[in-house]
Amino acid sequence: MDTVATLKGLRCPQCGSEDLDVKGKAGSMGKELAGAFLGGAIAHLAVSRSASKNVETVPIAYVCKNCKHKFQSLPLAAQQEDILSAPCTISFTRLSGFVGALAAMVVYLNGVNCGVVKNGATITLQTSNRWNTMFVTDQYGVAFKSVYRFEAVPGGTVAVRFKRKFVE
Ligand SMILES: [Zn+2]
Repeated sequence: MDTVATLKGLRCPQCGSEDLDVKGKAGSMGKELAGAFLGGAIAHLAVSRSASKNVETVPIAYVCKNCKHKFQSLPLAAQQEDILSAPCTISFTRLSGFVGALAAMVVYLNGVNCGVVKNGATITLQTSNRWNTMFVTDQYGVAFKSVYRFEAVPGGTVAVRFKRKFVE
């Protein structure tokens, strides 16, 4: 069984809160995180057998909304009971926009880099994790404020649309 990445259960190492703001790829914030605590369990993590080939697991920087503590973490490994019997398919569409149209946006699913999405393009991802967290960063790795969380069902499909924030 492959390891499935999750952000469910990720907590502030200082106060234990799960109410976290995503700041982006670690290092993209400059020196403020130098020497910060690096949490998470897994250095080399497969998202799932069927995930896109370009996935990359890197530490992500978070800020605790409760105590303002900044920290970095890799994704956690999903609990067995949270792993779907069949993957759920996610279609992620970056809606066309004039502002920043040429800039890359990078999609993260459960803390794993799933690749660049061009303006107006759609990428298809699969998840074997019931509890999913998606966020998007700019080309420098700085996360947009908007974070999308959803419960996946086995064999299901989810359409996600993004235009500088997630659009319902
Ligand atoms: Zn905290």
